[in-house]
Amino acid sequence: MPPTPRPARPPRPLLPLALLMAGSGIVAMLVAWIKVASSLHVDRQISWTGLSLVGAVLVCAGAGLAATSGERVFLLHLQRLGAALAVNDPSAATNGTGPLPPTGLVATETMSRYHRAGCPLTAGKPVIPASQVDHERAGRLPCGVCGAGATS
Ligand SMILES: [Zn+2]
Repeated sequence: MPPTPRPARPPRPLLPLALLMAGSGIVAMLVAWIKVASSLHVDRQISWTGLSLVGAVLVCAGAGLAATSGERVFLLHLQRLGAALAVNDPSAATNGTGPLPPTGLVATETMSRYHRAGCPLTAGKPVIPASQVDHERAGRLPCGVCGAGATS
């Protein structure tokens, strides 16, 4: 099997940076709040309010960065899962002609459902091919993911 190219690793520094930004923003807001509350002069209170605004901007920027970082990681994992399923699909490796023939039904000894040969729920499992009648005689139901029951 040829080696599959791995997708680029997720940008790891983004989430700690986002947490650092949000944390420093919260600290800035708390310091500004304490300074404003301890001052009786309005002009000093207004000057500390500026620090509070900077803290609010940092919190918002950190939250936005964390959200987009999580989305990138999620999409990357989804892409890796799709690539792994395509690699483990025996039909794609052997014939590559699209949908499997209806006779390619498999299951393991302990499965309660039978599947098409390329079903992702059987990936990496020691499956045994058998006819639909044999699977149903063994008490197995058709898989709803790969539509094995619609093969008759
Ligand atoms: Zn299945």
